Amino acid sequence: AMVTRFCPSPTGPLHIGGIYVALIDRSLADAARGRYLLRVEDTDQAREVPGVRDQFERAFTYFGLPPDESDVIGGAYGPYLQSRRAEIYLSYVRDLMRRGHAYLCFATREELAEQTAAQQAAKVPTGYYGRWAIWRDAPQSKVGEALAVGRPYVVRFRSEVAPGERISYVDAIRGRIEFDANRNDVVILKSSDQPLPLPTYHLAHTVDDHLMRVNLVLRADEWLSSVPLHLQLFDALGFDRLQYAHIAPLLKLDRGNKRKLSKRKDPEASVDFYLRAGYPPEPVLAYLRGLINGRLADIPEAEALAAPIRLDECGVSGSLVDMVKLEGISADHVAAMSGVEILAAVTEWARQYDPELAEVLAAEPDLAVRALAVERDGVDKPRKDLRKWSDFRAVYGFFFPQLFTPVTSLHGGPLENLPAEVVRAMADSFSATYQPLPDAQEWFGQIRSLAAENGFAATPKEHKARPDLYHGSIREASQIIRVALTGSTRSPDLYAVASAMGPAEVRRRVAALAA
Ligand code: ATP
Ligand code: GLU
Repeated sequence: AMVTRFCPSPTGPLHIGGIYVALIDRSLADAARGRYLLRVEDTDQAREVPGVRDQFERAFTYFGLPPDESDVIGGAYGPYLQSRRAEIYLSYVRDLMRRGHAYLCFATREELAEQTAAQQAAKVPTGYYGRWAIWRDAPQSKVGEALAVGRPYVVRFRSEVAPGERISYVDAIRGRIEFDANRNDVVILKSSDQPLPLPTYHLAHTVDDHLMRVNLVLRADEWLSSVPLHLQLFDALGFDRLQYAHIAPLLKLDRGNKRKLSKRKDPEASVDFYLRAGYPPEPVLAYLRGLINGRLADIPEAEALAAPIRLDECGVSGSLVDMVKLEGISADHVAAMSGVEILAAVTEWARQYDPELAEVLAAEPDLAVRALAVERDGVDKPRKDLRKWSDFRAVYGFFFPQLFTPVTSLHGGPLENLPAEVVRAMADSFSATYQPLPDAQEWFGQIRSLAAENGFAATPKEHKARPDLYHGSIREASQIIRVALTGSTRSPDLYAVASAMGPAEVRRRVAALAA
């Protein structure tokens, strides 16, 4: 059966490319009724970032890509955390040494740096090989002496390759590839000065993927150049070779040029960015699915997600991540949700990322449902300005007294073009007489008649009769009420907003504008 795996290193937050690769891992394993495991590659302990491991679990849960086996879930082939497998690696390293495939190297950092400089000066490939590999055939007495005085060492793999030798292999995505064979005696076990030395990625990858009976390795194509070494290791260890599929990286358009989407430069490269911003997981996954096969971008999200992924869909050149497109897909997804569903999702998101909002929603559940119903439930085309949960404050926050920022000055604010006395008179009489009428036409009728009574000539006829009045449109008159209620000149239907708020709050806010 097919076994795939995803193997993040806890040296930094998860890259969104990780979700992209895990999505493929999960789908291929599912289609073959195989298994998909999560292994944490923490052999570079100096670079480990605390807390990142928990983020991995959270991210995979959020995106609905739970592995079948992992350190948290368990499984018969664990531990799935490399730092706890030190003894396993040691036994394979000893075996390689016994059979002449590996040796101890005591070269110091300084010696290696000098060697590299000398190789560069001589214009030959850098590395530990040929006459540069001083410890490769060191006499036993010299090794024994170094050990006796406690000099630190590493273990290197002994490459048996003639200069100029070529190899080829078939990549599941890229087809047949030819390489120069690897001549470098690569470090497979790191420095000895810790309780148990840990392996490098290369050895850990071969040993673990063999022992965990993985047969398809999907990984970023930055590892392509390591394939010759990995094949040598599989052979030397006596393991069956497995299949590799090297995935092209996600790209970003940067001033007209494509480059790798990178965590150091692009916030959207980190999975954490999507969790923090509160993107619902489905549209993000559907978007990533669409990046594998562009044709799926135009079909409904659920269908795109249900389509099994095939390796022959995966391109070799890398796909561009376009956040504008992703936001559009997310907006469509949110637009298809009911208010109650949104409230549940926003609340869950806010508990972790916006505790103040979570508190407000918990205190005002009915108001929240009424607010979300405005221009949403029962309307064909809800507004699409809610694309992710962190947009909630900007779109619906004004409904909640705790989150509302009232307009306090009539000068320089959204009402600056209207005479202040007209605004005040209008707001004053509106708050004094406001009735929550059940009919929208009648409700707007209140504004119309109050306008005429309060210094506002909304029609030419009214203006002719009372030239002393301010001549403006009825829209301007409603704008006064709109700004009082929402703090902005743009809002959903005013009648719907006022109905959701309730008469007491409406009177309070309009009165505050007149004060
Ligand atoms: P940097 O900020 O240096 O570019 P990075 O974004 O490459 O860092 P790393 O921590 O070096 O992130 O890589 C972590 C994992 O994410 C690696 O397995 C790598 O292959 C993968 N990865 C990195 N960039 C991409 C990308 N653009 N597309 C897909 N996977 C990626
Ligand atoms: N730990 C490696 C990385 O994060 C995994 C590479 C692989 O999938 O083999 O890049």
